[in-house]
Amino acid sequence: MIFFYGIRSTHLQTLSSSHRGLQCRHCKTEGSTFVNVFGRYFHFFWIPLFPVGKTGVAESRHCQYAWRKREFSPQLKTEYKRLKENAKTPVWHFIGLILMVVLIVLPFVVSLVGRAFNA
Ligand SMILES: [Zn+2]
Repeated sequence: MIFFYGIRSTHLQTLSSSHRGLQCRHCKTEGSTFVNVFGRYFHFFWIPLFPVGKTGVAESRHCQYAWRKREFSPQLKTEYKRLKENAKTPVWHFIGLILMVVLIVLPFVVSLVGRAFNA
């Protein structure tokens, strides 16, 4: 089934592997864990309308095991929080909202300018 609207997400940032002490939840290998931050946005016909927060997935490059935010260790949560704050939401996540504003504001501006010229 195809949904014409809903929530989609795109990858924003990955925490560098140089961070020490992060242990894989599965194989316990240190330094193999990567934290990926994803930006979630609401889309309508695949056009992003507005962002709806961020989510994270941790991943082990050693064993390919991946786990979700709610399964993060307290240390990983802290790392994720730091990364999330640094990860900027891309402008195109707002493109639908920008388009709507432009479509609403532009005729208004045009009529104002027109009125000023006709006065
Ligand atoms: Zn692992």
